[in-house]
Amino acid sequence: MTNTVLQKLGIHSINSGVFSGDWIRKPKGPEILSVNPSTGKPMARVLSASREDYERVLEKAQKGFKKWSLLPPPRRGEIVRKIGEALRKNRKALGLLVTLETGKILAEGEGEVQEMIDIADFSVGLSRQLYGLTIASERPDHRMFEQWHPLGPIGVITAFNFPVAVWSWNAFVAAVCGDTLLWKPSSRTPLTAIAVQNIIRKVLAKEELDGVFNLCIGDGAEIGEWMAQDRRLPLISATGSCAMGKRVAEAVAQRLGRTLLELGGNNAAIVAPSANLDLALRSILFAAVGTSGQRCTTLRRLILHRSIAKKFTRQLIRAYKQISIGEPWKKEVLMGPLIAESAVQRMMEAAEEIQRQGGKILYGGKRLKRSGYFVQPALVQADPKMPMVQEETFAPILYMMTYDRLEEAIQIHNAVPQGLSSGIFTNDLREAELFLSAMGSDCGIANVNIATSGAEIGGAFGGEKETGGGREAGSDAWKVYMRRQTCTIHFGKNLSLAQGVRFDLG
Ligand code: NAD
Repeated sequence: MTNTVLQKLGIHSINSGVFSGDWIRKPKGPEILSVNPSTGKPMARVLSASREDYERVLEKAQKGFKKWSLLPPPRRGEIVRKIGEALRKNRKALGLLVTLETGKILAEGEGEVQEMIDIADFSVGLSRQLYGLTIASERPDHRMFEQWHPLGPIGVITAFNFPVAVWSWNAFVAAVCGDTLLWKPSSRTPLTAIAVQNIIRKVLAKEELDGVFNLCIGDGAEIGEWMAQDRRLPLISATGSCAMGKRVAEAVAQRLGRTLLELGGNNAAIVAPSANLDLALRSILFAAVGTSGQRCTTLRRLILHRSIAKKFTRQLIRAYKQISIGEPWKKEVLMGPLIAESAVQRMMEAAEEIQRQGGKILYGGKRLKRSGYFVQPALVQADPKMPMVQEETFAPILYMMTYDRLEEAIQIHNAVPQGLSSGIFTNDLREAELFLSAMGSDCGIANVNIATSGAEIGGAFGGEKETGGGREAGSDAWKVYMRRQTCTIHFGKNLSLAQGVRFDLG
């Protein structure tokens, strides 16, 4: 299975990880391994970029920008449409590779490729809707309007857990806006990035375009650090942990560049007494255990009304016991492995620390005795003030707390440094509206009768506070990939100045 899919997607036992119009044959950076987290065994080797390779790619992205940015936006949209078609043809193969390289279950691997297709479709429409406003001028015989221009080559740094979808949210929207891209994926997921380039390069070759979608795989953080410091990249879109975002933000701010930050979450859901508990249970299970707790939107905190807390906890423990854990490509499996040995170690350390801080593990939290990086998801009875509850441990640990009044639940909900996704389960209109009001959830995403995971591409995605404040994908998130220009045309004969200022000779 592994060899067939690797072959279909043009992956060899040793691969170049640097692409710019074509593969750079022998990049001079360190060699990295792609490991299948379900077996702990390597799948293929990748040659990463040296500084010299990085310079070559960036020059190509700058050159590519000169041609690409001059194409009419709907023409750029037409090319993204063709890329979407190519992805449709490779949905199953690329979905399986995402599953093999990240350990997420097949439905989620394929779902991620579907998300790429969806954002491609969205971007095609967007390519005809890059609107600017016309603004009433206070001066006679003046017309004022705003227009949007492409920014330049932009840098995209991505995390391991959405190795292809997050790139496409940035890449397709930025591309129709007229930007070219330099992509640095996580070094844990190099093969999916190579496969994406192999799929789309054929489309661009037919159009005789290069330097639009460029790739620089690196070993760890180094290439990302070069990008953050590089004035030739006016925008850095960075997805990853809050710690990484702080470093990127600081480096880009030093040169007064622009950032789009999509960082860690510590997402919570409130379950009110009027909630449909059956619906809540199923939604919460997916949000807490799906992707083995390795989504930025994973549900990490559950705030239960005291009147339903005992019953709901019993039901949740029963449901957790039924979760099938195993090879993520098998149909019956709902939870695959964690990404790496270090992630298992972090979860085990977190379990110990939770107990030291007074938390009680009600279920799970152990490593499974088998090869690969498999763990049991954990349910923890916790005090909202425990320091561990403030942190995002990137593993399936769900903290459970109780409340008496909704205002108290909202206070607990907002009392963490991150602000990505949130949800309330209630059939009481007043409670739902309070949660969505300015007094309610302080997150970038707020749901009613839906838990925290599983956003659609049509909305702008991102979060507040230490999640970084960025927005990408749908709505008007495209504006971050362009520069706004306010233009005024004077078509009269007499000078007239704004604010009635007079500046006459004699
Ligand atoms: P990570 O922070 O370890 O790495 C993310 C990317 O940043 C990688 O490509 C890495 O090489 C690069 N990087 C690390 N340090 C850097 C530096 N100093 N300068 C430049 N680049 C650097 O994250 P991860 O383990 O790959 O992914 C998990 C994290 O990502 C979680 O915190 C999760 O919540 C977050 N995430 C957020 C979103 C979102 O949209 N908000 C989406 C997916 C993942």
